[in-house]
Amino acid sequence: MKNVLQNINTNMYILILSLLLLALPQQALAIQDIPIDVRQIDISTERYSRNSVIDTAQDATGYLWFASIRGLHVYDGNVVRPVLKDVLQGTKIRGIHIDGNDVLWVATNSGILAYSLKNRTSRWHRANDSSEGLASDTVHVIHEDQKGTLWAGTTENGLHRYEPSFDTFKRVDVVPSVSNKKRTILDIREDAHRDMWLGTDQGLLQLTGNQGPATTIPLSTGEPYSAKKIAFDANGDLWVAVAAKGLWLLPKNAQKKELIQIHDLPAKNILDLYTDSTGDVWICTTQGLFRYALREARIYAHPFLVSNPREKTPVSIASITETSSKTLWIGTFNHGALHRAAYPGAKLIELKTKGEEQGLRDANVICAVNPIDSSIYIAPRSGGLYRSAPVDVNHVLLSSQLEIEQLFNTPRIQSLTWDADNALLCGTENALLRIDAKHAVERVQVISNPQTVFSDRDIARTVTMGDGRIWFASKFELYSWKPGEAKARKEKTGSFKPSISCMTRHEAQVWIGHGSAVTVLDTQSGSLNLLPLPPQTWAENATVKALFVDHFENVWIGTTQNIFRFNLTSKALVPIYAAGEVPVPNALSFWLDPAGSIWLHTQDKIFEIPAKSDRAVERAIGAAHPSANISSSPAVLSQDMLAYGHSDGLLFISPPVLGAQPQTVPKISEIRIFGQPIAPTQLGRMPENLELEHDKNYLTFIFSIPELNASRPPHFFYMLEGIDTTWNDTGKRDSVSYAHLRPGRYTLHLKDGPDGTITTSMSINILPPLWLTPWAMAGYALAIIFTILTASRMFTRVQTTRIRKEMLENLVMLDPLTGVPNRRKFKEVLVAEKSRCKRSNHQISVLMIDIDYFKGFNDRLGHQAGDAALRSVAQTVSATLRRPEDFVARYGGEEFVVVLPSTSRAGAERVAQKIQDAIRMANIPYPGSPLSDRITLSLGISTFSPQSDLHIDSGLFSADQALYQAKRNGRNCFFYKDHCLALTPLRQ
Ligand code: GH3
Ligand code: MG
Ligand code: MG
Repeated sequence: MKNVLQNINTNMYILILSLLLLALPQQALAIQDIPIDVRQIDISTERYSRNSVIDTAQDATGYLWFASIRGLHVYDGNVVRPVLKDVLQGTKIRGIHIDGNDVLWVATNSGILAYSLKNRTSRWHRANDSSEGLASDTVHVIHEDQKGTLWAGTTENGLHRYEPSFDTFKRVDVVPSVSNKKRTILDIREDAHRDMWLGTDQGLLQLTGNQGPATTIPLSTGEPYSAKKIAFDANGDLWVAVAAKGLWLLPKNAQKKELIQIHDLPAKNILDLYTDSTGDVWICTTQGLFRYALREARIYAHPFLVSNPREKTPVSIASITETSSKTLWIGTFNHGALHRAAYPGAKLIELKTKGEEQGLRDANVICAVNPIDSSIYIAPRSGGLYRSAPVDVNHVLLSSQLEIEQLFNTPRIQSLTWDADNALLCGTENALLRIDAKHAVERVQVISNPQTVFSDRDIARTVTMGDGRIWFASKFELYSWKPGEAKARKEKTGSFKPSISCMTRHEAQVWIGHGSAVTVLDTQSGSLNLLPLPPQTWAENATVKALFVDHFENVWIGTTQNIFRFNLTSKALVPIYAAGEVPVPNALSFWLDPAGSIWLHTQDKIFEIPAKSDRAVERAIGAAHPSANISSSPAVLSQDMLAYGHSDGLLFISPPVLGAQPQTVPKISEIRIFGQPIAPTQLGRMPENLELEHDKNYLTFIFSIPELNASRPPHFFYMLEGIDTTWNDTGKRDSVSYAHLRPGRYTLHLKDGPDGTITTSMSINILPPLWLTPWAMAGYALAIIFTILTASRMFTRVQTTRIRKEMLENLVMLDPLTGVPNRRKFKEVLVAEKSRCKRSNHQISVLMIDIDYFKGFNDRLGHQAGDAALRSVAQTVSATLRRPEDFVARYGGEEFVVVLPSTSRAGAERVAQKIQDAIRMANIPYPGSPLSDRITLSLGISTFSPQSDLHIDSGLFSADQALYQAKRNGRNCFFYKDHCLALTPLRQ
């Protein structure tokens, strides 16, 4: 009986709990549309047929891999390229995974391909490889557990485990199976206790530990089912996609281990389940994309537009993956991959009034966060004061909507601040409202100048002093008021022209920005002091828009032109610039974060001035960034979360996330040589080294970033080492060209942003032309050396020959005894001189010389003395001839002949006389001479004109005749003979 009661009690308990569990999600899971922005990446490989992406993975270098029904593709941020076609050889891909060693695992209908992206080596794991290998070739899923072990699920032959140490897939026997039918493993997940959970064709299985035993989890309806996809959310609840039966849930702490159906999801065919880094579960279906929002315990639909507007039905979503930059990549059917635009650190939240269907559109709100309960007070431009429920900072970013409730119906509120007693101060037209924690309202009306225009009375600036007194201002008038007082007190009116634009408090001072001036009002002494701003602020009529005093004695001043920091101690006023010395105009608010950074917003941007820095760094960038439409100063939600009023609601900004520069990996996506793109590598990327011929020297590089968040457009900086010495800014472009690169080695460096820490490099070697290669150079040197050697050898040979020839010539032409030319040479010279004199029309004379009685000389003194005498005569005659063209030769025996070109008879006679004188002076002794005691000569002279056709021999004959005459005349004299007279010319 007790047992029965207990059973009933337990059953009742389970029933109530089940009902509760069923009831709770049913109520909470009303589907709501939250459209998301997507960027479509078409991966069509064939014309007219777009591709479907069934899985996405990111490798260690940031490239994105898409597994599609047509094969593998790699995306580098610019181009999608088909890859590894020859390795995959037409197999059908079921899924991909890239492990911690940068090994790509591809599950196919024909085994598993392991491809090392580092070593570019591949290995197939197939059923017939070994007795231990895969039991079946059709692999549905590859899952890496927390320890790095890989798990593979196959058709009919179950689960396999792979560890690098055993280098093969080992089969894990999963028992029990239903009716001895072999199981097909469709999905694998691991829970927090490291238990494996398997989605199989025979339902969901829980394996205790790695091996089992296995427990089958039934559907609450008890029907048999196939668990296609499974995913744990961050709470540990397990979501299961049941084939053709929609979405089911196994709550973590469910008393009864069975799956309960989530009826709200309209789609019955779920293709993928994925848990993102926030813990939400994304549901990919044939009817679009849905998300189970964990904190709100509800499902949202996420419709989006794809490029084909004729596509009326929702896009079928095949897969979803979150990559390192928290970007979601959505694989679709027939629409390629989609990339969800994400803005890290910024989230725009739509405001929705309780009970109303539509959100607050074009709200342009200002907001304040209740410091006690973190509820947010909101004042839209259209008027009224609203309040949200208390906001949990940790959860606020998970939702896209915030429900608000109207508290008061007021005219438009211009300022929202908290006073010292945590009452809300609302500045409206002509009045200040003070709303305390119990929502009791105190109202103080200001006495305005009746001449001023309506808007001049708006209370848009409020500060609360340490004494609890509230100082507030309309455009031209300053008031102070303490709660409880009936009327506000008018303060120092007339001092604040032009109009008051901002106010802040420092100790007992109120700092007031008005026009180009900042006035410091001491509320205790009533003294007014002017802060000197730089002259150009006055000169250019800049307006002070924001004032803020931080904890470090710094007053921050924002004008319509720039930002200044005024130090209260040093009195130094320092201008603050953004990168590139660009001023930051129109700062509208300042906020000091706990790390000491100043955050400021302008009309469309958010900047950070890091602690101890004088530089403003732009933190939210891009025209599409939600920071582009901020409508009010921030309210502080927590230490690292600000809520800005926005034209479309509230903008939650997380400064630490915004300040953390995303680590983007820039890529060289394409290289063109003279406009012609070069082929990518087998992995779909550009080669890391380029070797180009000398004439391939016009290069264009196109840059990209595969994982760029939509919050920030890429901003490439490049440097070609070997040409550039500094980084160059591409500006808005994503490419650069270099023309006429000389042969040599270059390295192209690329980074994203001026302060980018990750650089991509590529080495480029432009080879010298053939005629400038080192080998060619060596060849030239050899040729030059060879030429020089040959030339010098030839020269030497020519020289030698010439010298030898000259020597020979000399030998032939010179008389060996006397050293003067011989008769042969004489003939040559005479012929040459004759023709020369003929050209110049000059006469030519010939002397024929004979030693007198030389026979006797020999007889008396001997032949040797005769020879010596002959030499002396030759030398004496030769020395007598002064003109270079005069010529002496030994004619034969003791006879000499002298040729005197261009010499007339008179000249020849003078030379004859000179020769006789010289011989006399030479005094060659001839003892016993019949004429004298020395040698004497007889000479015959002949002169002839070369113009006459007289042969030279006849001239000689005449000279000989004259000599004969001289002999006959007694010797030691000379005679002249005109050859023309007596003799008939000889002709040859
Ligand atoms: P003349 O005054 O009439 O000329 O009397 P000559 O003795 O000189 O007569 P001729 O001219 O006929 O004599 C030539 C002589 O010169 C013959 C020879 O003794 C001498 N003679 C010729 N050639 C050489 C030579 O090469 N060496 C020497 N030592 N004597 C020579
Ligand atoms: Mg003679
Ligand atoms: Mg003689």
